Amino acid sequence: MAEPVFNRLAIIGTGLIGSSVALAAREASAAGSVTLYDANADVRRTASELGLGDVADDIHKAVSGADCVILCVPVGAIARTTEDLASSLDPGSILTDVGSVKESALAAMLAHCPDHVHLIPGHPIAGTEKSGPQAGFASLFQNAWHILTPLADQPETYQASVRNLTDFWERLGAKVEIMDAARHDRVLAITSHLPHLIAYNIVSTAYDMESVGEGEVVKYSAGGFRDFTRIAASDPTMWRDVFLNNKDAVLETLGRFSEDLAALQRAIRWGDGDMLMKEFERARGIRKAIIEAGQDTSEANFGRNAPKDE
Ligand code: NAP
Repeated sequence: MAEPVFNRLAIIGTGLIGSSVALAAREASAAGSVTLYDANADVRRTASELGLGDVADDIHKAVSGADCVILCVPVGAIARTTEDLASSLDPGSILTDVGSVKESALAAMLAHCPDHVHLIPGHPIAGTEKSGPQAGFASLFQNAWHILTPLADQPETYQASVRNLTDFWERLGAKVEIMDAARHDRVLAITSHLPHLIAYNIVSTAYDMESVGEGEVVKYSAGGFRDFTRIAASDPTMWRDVFLNNKDAVLETLGRFSEDLAALQRAIRWGDGDMLMKEFERARGIRKAIIEAGQDTSEANFGRNAPKDE
């Protein structure tokens, strides 16, 4: 068995991602010990009952002596959380996060992180629509990308910490990619943030339509709509924070999307079947490329169980 990457790992925020990191780190023996903390006392109690690790009732106790601290709180809580724990961070330790937006997370941590700590923001491209400590599972990061957005022009000791953090996520099964924070936010705006906005919007439009009164939206939701409802069940706090913190990239992407949607709208209005065929065939090709890249399955129903088994 390989040596643990970190002697003592501290996880702050014990929801879906925090509990999954704890379970995966234990399964992979990636940390000598795991201490968790959550601002919510009920969550701390549940984390303790689930046996996720040592659960501290104080944020300072959780982080002191840790060689790596991972913030698994909503993006909007990163600044406050960093400020709360900063005085207890060990010199030479790593402070990282899992926030879905990277430029604002970096600014929030930089504002309070002591100079003697290696700040290395990160984001696992893995998750589900569930939240809370019960939702976590050890295999969440298997074969998923983990993006790190380290600071530029740092000394060798910092680079060594980036290598350690890379080793840690690889031990959990992830594929690590280094990226600039601004680029991360532009890429995720189209691949993750906009799809969630569309899902929230389509579910809300359908709900407002009169057919809901007759139960038809629920009754016939075996179509594409059901997949939108799954995405739209995602945690409201997390997604509010994502949109407020990735405002520019999301608005730019939304502008492009609206133009393309208007072109499809025009093609439908004027009966331009050629244009619709061209666009739909191109989209089908992109789907094929995603499957070939191992990012999804080609199985019916996306490989999920039939609804009766869920
Ligand atoms: P979650 O299940 O809602 O868990 C977040 C936990 O953090 C909650 O227990 C919350 O407590 C706690 N918390 C809030 N403020 C805190 C503070 N100041 N100090 C300590 N704990 C605090 O959310 P999640 O899905 O794990 O998301 C956590 C982070 O991962 C977010 O930044 C998100 O952007 C990122 N992420 C999520 C996904 C995903 O698919 N869910 C994927 C990749 C990255 P309360 O419940 O009392 O608020």
